[in-house]
Amino acid sequence: MEPPLSPASTTVPLSPNGNNGGAEDCCVKVAVHVRPLIADERAQGCKDCVTVIPGKPQVQIGIHSFTFDHVYGSTGSPSSAMFEECIAPLVDGLFQGYNATVLAYGQTGSGKTYTMGTGFKDGHQTGIIPLVMNVLFSKIEELKHQTEFQQHVSFIEIHKEEVQDLLDSTSVNKSDAANGHTGKASIPGKPPIQIRESSNGVITLAGSTEVSVSTFKEMAACLEQGSLSRATGSTNMNNQSSRSHAIFTITLEQMRKLSPVLPGDNSVNGSMNEEYLCAKLHLVDLAGSERAKRTGSDGLRFKEGVHINKGLLALGNVISALGDEKKRKEGVHVPYRDSKLTRLLQDSLGGNSRTVMIACISPADINAEETLNTLKYANRARNIQNKPVVNR
Ligand code: ADP
Ligand code: MG
Repeated sequence: MEPPLSPASTTVPLSPNGNNGGAEDCCVKVAVHVRPLIADERAQGCKDCVTVIPGKPQVQIGIHSFTFDHVYGSTGSPSSAMFEECIAPLVDGLFQGYNATVLAYGQTGSGKTYTMGTGFKDGHQTGIIPLVMNVLFSKIEELKHQTEFQQHVSFIEIHKEEVQDLLDSTSVNKSDAANGHTGKASIPGKPPIQIRESSNGVITLAGSTEVSVSTFKEMAACLEQGSLSRATGSTNMNNQSSRSHAIFTITLEQMRKLSPVLPGDNSVNGSMNEEYLCAKLHLVDLAGSERAKRTGSDGLRFKEGVHINKGLLALGNVISALGDEKKRKEGVHVPYRDSKLTRLLQDSLGGNSRTVMIACISPADINAEETLNTLKYANRARNIQNKPVVNR
């Protein structure tokens, strides 16, 4: 790994991730993505029970109607519109030093992995992450004359409240026939990955692989390597469904050369003025939100269900606490520490960070109950205001 860009003595300290003001207030954006009926559902004779109201960001199921920031229907290809409206502003923010998080939420089989791009379909990678990488490297190319960049990626998953490294080439593939779980297992004796918080509130993952990449191709190779390593389990709902939260993180470091203050004065103590910024974008493919009973499993798989619910429950509680302005003013506790997922996202969820939740839903009538649960959860997230929080 290359050494990190070290701020020069003349660096202007300006990090939007600190609470130094100046950031505009913005809500968590919530988008709903309704995927098309898939072949399996059509073969079972499923009917489409979700209606997207044309021209409005509104979705109806039975007697229930919900309005979100954006709703992308099952016809046409929503990915480019979704990217432009929801994700591209976060990539822009990354260049301004703002942390951001994109969360794909929904039951197993609702299209989270397809939407995020942490999997493959017919050998091709679909989804948001490849689009993010494309824009990221185009912008870097555009700005490289005035700014020095370094990009790093990490790719981890949280499975049963344990953080596992998807990019660790020293780990071994584990195939545990007893529980149907295939994934990476650390070499015995290797210390577990730990989530740490620095004195200025920056969250880091001690012991995880961070790969320094300088091209689209290199970053795509990391995405591919990690996607193939993901822990998957067989359940009644989806053979390849992930039982874990997968988090692909892009960290962008920049050293920007600032114009000299006076014409002709291009040095301060012999060097140009520079501004150092560092921000990260978490792209999160959450575990299936269905309740444990729906997986029809018991024993170990049921336990996984309990852990998965712990992360999603904590995420819901954090989002709810952040969105309650009155409580925030009273300095209410934001329960980031209640799960590994929320702890890891702590410096990129709330405060000056930007968050987009994409609620993925199936249109099939057999999934109506879970679809309604997803829409209710997403509706709760909509009230969040991303302003500096007292208890960060
Ligand atoms: P999840 O990650 O939520 O379990 P997947 O992303 O694996 O769900 O999607 C389940 C199935 O639906 C896969 O076969 C996937 O290819 C298909 N699918 C998901 N979203 C779309 C979409 N927008 N268009 C076409 N097929 C989709
Ligand atoms: Mg998936």
